[in-house]
Amino acid sequence: MISETLILVADDNQEIRDFLEEALETLGGYSVHSVGDGLSALTLVHELQPDLLITDQQMPNLSGIELIHRVRADYPALPVILMTGESSEALAVDALRVGATDYLVKPFDPDELLETVDQSLELAQKLRTSILQAMSGIEGEDEEDQQPGTMPDHLESAASVLFDLDEVLSGAVDTAVRLTGAEEGSLLLLDEVSGELHMRASKNFDDEFASTFRVHVEDSLAGQVISHGEPIILDENAPQKIKTSYLVHSLLYVPLKVRGKVIGVLGIDNRTPGKTLNDEDRAILMAMADYAALAIENAQLYIRSDNERLQLETILREVQNSVVVIDMDHRIIMMNQSAQEIIETEADPVGMNVEDVFKDPKLLALVMDSGENPEREELELGDGRVFGAVRTPIAGVGQAIVMQDISHLKELDRIKSEFVTAVSHDLRSPLTAILGYIELVQRAGPVNDNQRDFIQRVQTSVVQISDLISDLLDLSRIEAGLDTTKVVTDISKIIRDSVKGAEHYAQAEGIHLEMNIPEDLGFVYGDPIRLRQMIGNLLENGVKYSYGEGVVSVEAETEDDQVIIRVQDYGTGIPRADQPKIFDRFFRASNVPEELPGTGLGLSIVKSILDNHYGRIWLESTHGEGTTFTVVLPLHIPEDPQ
Ligand code: ADP
Repeated sequence: MISETLILVADDNQEIRDFLEEALETLGGYSVHSVGDGLSALTLVHELQPDLLITDQQMPNLSGIELIHRVRADYPALPVILMTGESSEALAVDALRVGATDYLVKPFDPDELLETVDQSLELAQKLRTSILQAMSGIEGEDEEDQQPGTMPDHLESAASVLFDLDEVLSGAVDTAVRLTGAEEGSLLLLDEVSGELHMRASKNFDDEFASTFRVHVEDSLAGQVISHGEPIILDENAPQKIKTSYLVHSLLYVPLKVRGKVIGVLGIDNRTPGKTLNDEDRAILMAMADYAALAIENAQLYIRSDNERLQLETILREVQNSVVVIDMDHRIIMMNQSAQEIIETEADPVGMNVEDVFKDPKLLALVMDSGENPEREELELGDGRVFGAVRTPIAGVGQAIVMQDISHLKELDRIKSEFVTAVSHDLRSPLTAILGYIELVQRAGPVNDNQRDFIQRVQTSVVQISDLISDLLDLSRIEAGLDTTKVVTDISKIIRDSVKGAEHYAQAEGIHLEMNIPEDLGFVYGDPIRLRQMIGNLLENGVKYSYGEGVVSVEAETEDDQVIIRVQDYGTGIPRADQPKIFDRFFRASNVPEELPGTGLGLSIVKSILDNHYGRIWLESTHGEGTTFTVVLPLHIPEDPQ
C-alpha cells in the first residue's frame, strides 16, 4: 500500500532522483515526487504541500540553502533534509541555521537515507502534535473544531474579544516556553505612535516588570526584528552583545506578521548560562507567532467590524427618517424604531416576510416592485400623517425603504392650492368685466387704427390671463381630488373625441392630425372629461411645438391589462437637460421662445389626471427632431358575475 506521506525530492541529477524515488517508494513505502531545479521545487512545495522536502545543495536557479530559506518563511514546520556532495562542516551549519532539519552527505546508502527521513518526519510529527495540543489547551476542549485563533461565536462585545485575545496570547507564550524548555517568554507589540514595544503577554516575568516594560524600536534587539522582519537567535557563542533591557544568556526572537506587516515580536530567553536555543526552537516559535498573529488579526477585524456595526446601528436608530432594509426574498433584515412606529409591528419584525408585516397595500406594492431604479410612493397613515417612501435597490443585499414625514409639506401644498383657487375665482369677475367693456368700447363709437390695435392687444392679454386662471383652477381641482365623476369609459371614443376637438386648432396651425387606433381598445374607469383634456393637451402641444410643419399622430394598442397611447410629433423637441422637469408646474423648456403663448401648466395637468387614474406617462424626445409622449392606463376588467 502506498503511504499517504508525500516526499518532494529536488536534485538536478537524474540518477540520484531515480535512486531516491526507488529507495523511498519501495523500501520506505512513501509517495515521492521529484524535480530537477530549485525554483520548480519551491512552486511544488506550495502546490503539493509535501510532508518532507529533500533537496540537493547545488541546483540551477535556486541553491538548496536558498530554497530552504524561502520555504521556511511560509512553512516553518515542514521538515527539510539537505544533501551535499562535500562533507563540509560549514555548509551543514549554514543549512541548519536557515532551518534544515537534517543533512545527508553524498554518497549515502538507502538505510542511512531512510533513517534520516524517518527521524525528520518523526520530529516534525512530534512538533505538530505538541503545538496542536498546546493550541487546543488554550482554546478549551469544547472548541476543537475551531480554527486556530478564530473567535468563538459566543463572544458578543469588543471587550470580551480583547479579554479572550489576552488569554490566547498568554497561552501562545506559555506554549512556546513549554515546548522549547526556555526559562522566559514574552510577546511584544509595537505601538506605532510612540515607536515603542510593550509586553502584551509574558511567562515567568515579574508582573510589574512586564506591565511597565518598554523598549524603543530603534535601539533594541526586538526592534531589529521589527525592522527587518527576520528572526534573531543569539547565545553566548554568538559574537554580538545581547542588547535587551534585562540580562539574558541566550535569546530567540521571531517576528509577528499580520498581512505581511510586522506588528510585534514573540521571544524566549534563558537567564542561566550554558542553555542554548536551536532551529527546532525557532520552528516552534515561528509556528506560535503565526498562531498569535492570526488571533490578533481576527480580533482586530472583529473589533473593527463590531465598531462599524455599532456606529451604523446608532445612526439608523437616531435618524428621524424611518428605515427598513429587506433582503432579496422579501425578508426584513433591519427596521429602525421610527419605522416600527409607522408600520405598527407588534413583534420583532427582523426575519419576517414583508407580507406578514406591511399592512399598507401601497407600501407592500412598492416593496414587491422588483425594478432596478429607485421608486417613490406617498403613504397616508390612519392619524392623518403623510409619509414619502422611497425604495432604493441595493445590489447584493435587496432593498432599502426610507420614509420621511411630509405632512407639513402636504399641508403647505393644500393651503397654497386653496389660495390659488380663491384668487383665481375672484380674478374671473373683473376679467369678464374688462373683456366686456373692451367689446363695448368698439361699439360705442368709431375708433382709429391705432386704438383698434391697442384694443386687440388688451384682448389677447386678457385671454392669456383667463387661460392661466382656467389651468390653475383645473389643476387645483384635480389635485384636491374633486373629480369624482368616474365611469366605465370607452377609451377609443375618448381618443377620437380628443382628436376631433384638436382638429380646428391643428388646421389653423397648418398641422395634419393622424390617428391610428383599433376600433375596440376596451374600457378604462375614469372621468371622460379629464381623460379627453389629458389627450387634448398632448395633441395641442404636439401641434404648437411643430411650428406649422409636419404631422402629429396618435396611436394606441392594448397590452396585458393596459392601454398604451402614443402621441408623436416631429417638431422642435425638448432638450435633454429640461426633460426631467417637464411635468413641473410653470416649467417651459429653454428652447421655447418667450413670446409663444403658454402657461407651463398643461403637462402638470396631464400628469395630475394620470395620477388620479393610476396611469403613467413618459417621453422620448430629441432636440430638433420631435417628441413622443407615451401614456399607460389600466384597463377596466369587468368583475366575474358569479
Ligand atoms: P405650455 O403652456 O408652455 O405649452 P406645458 O405644460 O404644456 O406648457 O408644457 C411645458 C413645456 O414642455 C413647454 O413649454 C414646452 O417647452 C415643452 N413641451 C411640451 N410638449 C412639447 C412638445 N410636444 N414638443 C416640444 N416641447 C414640448
